[in-house]
Amino acid sequence: MDHTIPEVEQASVAIYNSVERFPIRRIYCVGRNYRAHAIEMGADPDREDPFFFMKPADSIVENGATIPYPKMTSNFHHEIELVAAIGKGGINININDALNHVWGYGVGIDLTRRDLQNQAKKAGRPWDMGKGFDKSAPCTALRSVDDVGHPDTGTGSIWIKVNDEIKQESTLDLHIWNTAETINYLSGFCELMPGDLIYMGTPDGVGPVVSGDTMKGHIDGVGDIVINIA
Ligand code: MN
Repeated sequence: MDHTIPEVEQASVAIYNSVERFPIRRIYCVGRNYRAHAIEMGADPDREDPFFFMKPADSIVENGATIPYPKMTSNFHHEIELVAAIGKGGINININDALNHVWGYGVGIDLTRRDLQNQAKKAGRPWDMGKGFDKSAPCTALRSVDDVGHPDTGTGSIWIKVNDEIKQESTLDLHIWNTAETINYLSGFCELMPGDLIYMGTPDGVGPVVSGDTMKGHIDGVGDIVINIA
């Protein structure tokens, strides 16, 4: 066998209006960060601190891509989410300083093998195979804070259509934990570093997509995402 050390590509996401790319270190995701979604998942939104799960950096998918229907599932769900990209790292980041750590924002879809996630929940097992599989993290080109400000300090809308039918529709001010609070809390557990993405959680209305479907997502001021299922 050839023992040449393989070259591994740095995962990255596009930057709006730029040929440069934003390198991805880690992808954190906030669970149940909209009341109505927490309730549809059978949880009590008033009783939980934020909690997190992760996706591999290379699960990122370019806007406009066609992805295969994933293996090992028959209940593949869309979750439209604001994505915050960390540009400056830190531990125990002060809430008043937290937004200064954000480089920019994108529109993401937290793709989920819901059947595998539900089996894992029931068995008290990790969610990785339900959440952190190949091509599970579509995201638009990031727009810098100079360009978009901090979307969830306002009441911008967030929605996703499947085949032009609206499935999820809400506003960013309804995040239970906003971006600043999430960075403050998460940085108490992990040192955040440049290149970390945070998927900020999805509104209610999650549901399945099948082969041949097109998902079109939107966040006011941030962008539009289109992903096709082959
Ligand atoms: Mn999610």
